[in-house]
Amino acid sequence: MKVYKFGGASVKDSEGVKNLARILKKENEAIVVISAMDKTTKAFEKVVNLYVSNSNGIKDYLHSIFQYHRSISNELFENESHEIFSIIRELENSLTTFLSINKSPKRAFIYDQVVNYGELLSTSITSNYLNHMGIINTLVDSRNIIKTDSKYREANVNWDATIENVKNNISPNTITIAQGFIGSDDNNFTTTLGLEGSDYSAAIFAYCINAESVTVWKDVDGILNADPRFFKNTTLLNHISFREAIELSYYGASVIHPKTIQPLQHKEIPLYVKNFYKDEAEGTVIKKGTTMDPITPCYILKENQILLSISALDFSFIVEENISEIFALISKFKINVNMIQNSAISFSLILEDKFILFDDFLDSLKSKYRIKYNVDVKLYTIRHYNDNNISTFEEGKTILLKQFSRETAQYIIK
Ligand code: ASP
Ligand code: MG
Repeated sequence: MKVYKFGGASVKDSEGVKNLARILKKENEAIVVISAMDKTTKAFEKVVNLYVSNSNGIKDYLHSIFQYHRSISNELFENESHEIFSIIRELENSLTTFLSINKSPKRAFIYDQVVNYGELLSTSITSNYLNHMGIINTLVDSRNIIKTDSKYREANVNWDATIENVKNNISPNTITIAQGFIGSDDNNFTTTLGLEGSDYSAAIFAYCINAESVTVWKDVDGILNADPRFFKNTTLLNHISFREAIELSYYGASVIHPKTIQPLQHKEIPLYVKNFYKDEAEGTVIKKGTTMDPITPCYILKENQILLSISALDFSFIVEENISEIFALISKFKINVNMIQNSAISFSLILEDKFILFDDFLDSLKSKYRIKYNVDVKLYTIRHYNDNNISTFEEGKTILLKQFSRETAQYIIK
């Protein structure tokens, strides 16, 4: 059985839902994982903010989200008395009821009880539309299948329970529609799976049913060797290994989140990334042991980095004790280290200050060390570099630091 995942950009309007139906027409059996339509998750996040801050506008804003889903449904179902409209009304009522009776002050809990409506809406509309078009399918509630702990917004999967539920709830030889991103805890409260949650859901289903493959449908041709927003002349990668995909995302490429890759890698289930509007094109496949094709340098940019150079006040060597002291502070202030370079009297670090604690970190260092730093520098990583592309890349740039390993070149640039 195959697993398909359609993201919010694919189902952002009625055209998208129709295109999804066109793709599924060719399938007799599949698990189809769907995200919230377009920016709906973001919109529900705003509902949570309005709710927590007790704002007046919440009612109208909430209603506008449901209206957006009604207007897509109006375009998909000619019949205004189609069942989908009462389903949407029931969902709106149940969320409104939750918000009026909720007593929990815990933001992450509230978040999960609210944002999941994005996926409930998108899957209800899509499943009904497919049935309407003669593509018979079963809509399941992923909360009855994917069981997790109660770490709201970043729940961890209970694999044993989930495998058992998949066995009992999903029949082969049919098309099953399921929500991405959501699950539930032991008390049956809704949980969400964190960053790129819907891709992860697809991987979880695939793992549990030993799927033959997973396909993630996107609005791009597949995985490119560089982000076209920052680099010219990008190349489509036809295939890469699981390992390469994890390496690329480690350096900052928005490929596929490692959390999604891991269950697939474990069972050697290939992952296809394909263009939603060009389904005959191959796209990119990530699978075991494949060599990268074409072998081409991959360019990755991380912005907003800090280059920090540390030396001892008396210019003595930076030795083991100093380094361990510096790292204890880095960990204390939750700063990320993306690169390290050591010389006799100076120790350089490329840092990312996710929690805006860099100034506090500096305060704790200043009494013992001489410090120089540049903020807002860029970290470029080139995987599979060669002499040619390195010299082209370096041209005209102010390079503050560079470092090479066998496969990877990294540059700090002003
Ligand atoms: N709908 C969720 C989000 O936008 C999950 C996902 O799409 O992966 O973050
Ligand atoms: Mg999404």
